[in-house]
Amino acid sequence: MRIDLHTHSTASDGTDSPSQVVDLAVGAGLDVIALTDHDSAAGWDEARLRAEQVELTVILGMEISTKHAGAGVHLLAYLLDPSYPPLDDELGLILEGRAGRLAAMVGQLRAAGLDITEAEVLRQVGSSPAIGRPHIADTLVAKHIVRDRAEAFDTWLNVGKPGYVNRYATSTVDMIGLVTQAGGVCVIAHPWGRGSRRVLDADTLEQLTFSGLVGIEVDHQGHSAADRAALAALAADLGLVATGSSDFHGDGKTNHELGCNLTRPDQFERLIGAAAANAAASERPVPTVVNAARLRGAGR
Ligand code: AMP
Ligand code: ZN
Ligand code: FE
Ligand code: FE
Repeated sequence: MRIDLHTHSTASDGTDSPSQVVDLAVGAGLDVIALTDHDSAAGWDEARLRAEQVELTVILGMEISTKHAGAGVHLLAYLLDPSYPPLDDELGLILEGRAGRLAAMVGQLRAAGLDITEAEVLRQVGSSPAIGRPHIADTLVAKHIVRDRAEAFDTWLNVGKPGYVNRYATSTVDMIGLVTQAGGVCVIAHPWGRGSRRVLDADTLEQLTFSGLVGIEVDHQGHSAADRAALAALAADLGLVATGSSDFHGDGKTNHELGCNLTRPDQFERLIGAAAANAAASERPVPTVVNAARLRGAGR
């Protein structure tokens, strides 16, 4: 069983539509993917529809922008009810924060001498409800100002660069609570990737586990072999599920091909079990696993 639990589509800052991500996953020989666009469920319906046609198992989820001790922490939330009002309100604030900083970022880039407008960026955003720096990066690529997204981040968009503007994020502890009440489960994305490494030590991960955290993404391209070994040991110590995934963004992120990291079937089963328990306790109408019957067919 080949399981990849972190992918992005054009419903946020990936470059393939949700249907295309599903088709590419089939082509890559995957059995299970999770669609985890930033801060919204906008891609879910399309992914579910296509997955039903091609018989891929799909876990509906999202990657939520949170912060802990002043650092950004990306929280993967799976099988949650996005219409749970307190969660929906909070996601609304995050999306507003994304939209609200666009003018400031464009203003700063223009002040730094770049020829770029909000309208041009919005063409790259397309139908995504989550406006992100990658859309600004794509605008700079389209205008031949930079070669690729990586150069756009390195030169203009990372913290400390001329185009950077901070944005709203929910506290990590609060968001774990909201997702759990919405019947879903939380896994911290790339905990020791740039950004969150500084704040996510063993004690903090233990505290977050008490708050309801279910897993951590161990196998991710942002982690060295030593990081992965240390995080796997921490997960075992804390009783956390250890996942692995690509963080696929289509052409938007090189070296993140679908299936480049995988989640072990036993860890996946634990995650699904925890989701079922949270769903039952919450009494929320959570999404079902798309093509769950295929998992049983695969002889788990
Ligand atoms: P934002 O959502 O605006 O905070 O931008 C963060 C997004 O940009 C994340 O989805 C990252 O995957 C992506 N990102 C960050 N750094 C890079 C980079 N060097 N190249 C491509 N994408 C990046
Ligand atoms: Zn992204
Ligand atoms: Fe992330
Ligand atoms: Fe991601």
